Amino acid sequence: MNDKDLLSVAIYFGKNALEWKRKFTGLLPEIHKRKLYEKKNCSSIFEFAAKFGGLSNDQVRLALNLEERFESMPRLHEALVNGEVSINKLARVVSIATPENEAELSEIVKNMSKSAVETFVRDEKFTDLPRQTLTLNEEVKNRLIELQSKGIDINELISAALNKREEEIAEEKAQPVELATSRPVPAKTERLLTKEHGTKCSIPTCKKPSEVIHHTQTFAISHSHNPNYLAPLCKEHHEIAHAINLRVREKRFSK
Ligand SMILES: [Zn+2]
Ligand SMILES: [Zn+2]
Repeated sequence: MNDKDLLSVAIYFGKNALEWKRKFTGLLPEIHKRKLYEKKNCSSIFEFAAKFGGLSNDQVRLALNLEERFESMPRLHEALVNGEVSINKLARVVSIATPENEAELSEIVKNMSKSAVETFVRDEKFTDLPRQTLTLNEEVKNRLIELQSKGIDINELISAALNKREEEIAEEKAQPVELATSRPVPAKTERLLTKEHGTKCSIPTCKKPSEVIHHTQTFAISHSHNPNYLAPLCKEHHEIAHAINLRVREKRFSK
């Protein structure tokens, strides 16, 4: 077998192995309840799961635990028992799941990767901005002290500089935008976004580096790189932005 074939066969088997493992895991709570493991000469569900599915005790415990916690949440329960979503991903949302939001959460776990689900849950739990300390370098500090000693209001001075920056950005963003011919954002627009948002993800509670410029109006429809509808996002928030968009669209079509 050549390298390419070897790799693609391995990935094909791996994907199937994961899917079948999820399905197997989903059946365990019911087998446990009916004590069907006894029919296979196993003393417990743990022995049964290890013998027939290669699962560790921790994984089995997690599956049984989740099944119980999802008792009053039919969609999440179903995602677990039919093996649609891995228990590792479901374990991420269990702490914020309620009968009220479980339908929404079940869509989220189906559409998002594990790291995006983690970020989503963190955003739901912690809405406070991370505390930051100001780091001025010696030169700036000394110049400000000098001005202050002359009786100049440095707060006013800094406010004026910040206002000027905001005005400049607002002015640049108000420029008319031509219809775009290609998907990548023009370098000029990208520079403007960096000027406005810096190098981090533009979600206020997130301080990861931005990796993607997201079009908040679907590019295929808008054909525009209007900076008012662009947001630099980290990988996880980009995934969340698309999954949530998708959900809104799904809801609209299902009505
Ligand atoms: Zn996007
Ligand atoms: Zn982010």
